[in-house]
Amino acid sequence: MKGVLFVSHRRIRVFDTTLRDGEQSPGIALQPDEKVEIALQLERLRVDVVEAGFAGASPGDFEGVRAVSGALTSPTVASLARTRFEDIDAAAEALAGARRSRIHVFIATSELHMERKLGLEPQQVVEQARDAVAYAASLVDEVEFSCEDATRSDQAFVARVCRVAIRAGATTINLPDTVGYALPFEYATFLSNVRREVPELREVTLSVHCHNDLGLAVANTLAGVHVGAEQVECTVNGIGERAGNAALEEVVMALNVRSDYFATATAVDTTEITRASQLVSQLTGYPVQPNKAVVGANAFAHEAGIHQDGMLKDERTYQIMDPARLGARTTLPLGKHSGRHAFARACAEHGVELVGDELTAAFRRFKERADAGGVVALEDLFEGVSA
Ligand SMILES: [Zn+2]
Repeated sequence: MKGVLFVSHRRIRVFDTTLRDGEQSPGIALQPDEKVEIALQLERLRVDVVEAGFAGASPGDFEGVRAVSGALTSPTVASLARTRFEDIDAAAEALAGARRSRIHVFIATSELHMERKLGLEPQQVVEQARDAVAYAASLVDEVEFSCEDATRSDQAFVARVCRVAIRAGATTINLPDTVGYALPFEYATFLSNVRREVPELREVTLSVHCHNDLGLAVANTLAGVHVGAEQVECTVNGIGERAGNAALEEVVMALNVRSDYFATATAVDTTEITRASQLVSQLTGYPVQPNKAVVGANAFAHEAGIHQDGMLKDERTYQIMDPARLGARTTLPLGKHSGRHAFARACAEHGVELVGDELTAAFRRFKERADAGGVVALEDLFEGVSA
């Protein structure tokens, strides 16, 4: 067709680690049946990979991975594993019932971690990565390999380890910002440099995994997608170690709302996002802050008069996404910043039609109450008034 430009959207895979990295948050311990409940919601959300746990970490984690493996029909199920063969054996055994299985092998590549934490020479790290990836590849469908603390590692060394892991059979290479240290433009440069040094990375899936210690997890993840990453690792509500991981709902909606910029697409059914957020919050006991992007109670709430007036005329004035796409809805709470227009409409919805002096008096009464404290419930305002 003349004059029509067909733009093919690059497919971004969503790797959800709510049940592994998310579960590593202090105070969270999900039981296998709770993991299954969340995993089934992640399946409805249509994520590509569910990392169900770290099978070698504890008998409970093993059971969690096994239960999730048996429960899911479409997503790939993954288990984390160190380069130790006993971890890999535990992962493979727990994943045996999965329709498609992935072992996620990791080892640290930064000077600090190798020397202080592992007590290994760089050459030993290379050998362990190679042997572990090759062994895992003989047991399951796919192997992902992560250079832990990649962003604080020597780039040439990261490139070397990646080459070895790909040759040993890794089909996804993850370069995480494990401690949330990177800045978006710096992370993009780092990924681009490693890709340039390792042309083989174009034959496998490049993945990003970012932490939120400086509040940059989502920004860094998007910077990674911008320079070619094809898998994003994230958690529902952004839960995870310390300040958490990149929030799935934020990454997905940024790619979705700004597909004009990224020209990418995920398979996520966004209408399941709000339900996923509520379920994870309920089962982990981690509340969602009211002003949280995308899933916070106030993400689509407008109290200020000017905003409410705009919203009543056209919702696009103050909303960049339709909450219905998330299984949520717009609210116009009444508070000290609210205007007469939204107040009159709320009264009408409440069955009280007010005009002229009656409206003026009621609005004054409402403002006095609102000034005294927060959001006003109309029920309180119309005490004794029959609707
Ligand atoms: Zn992590």
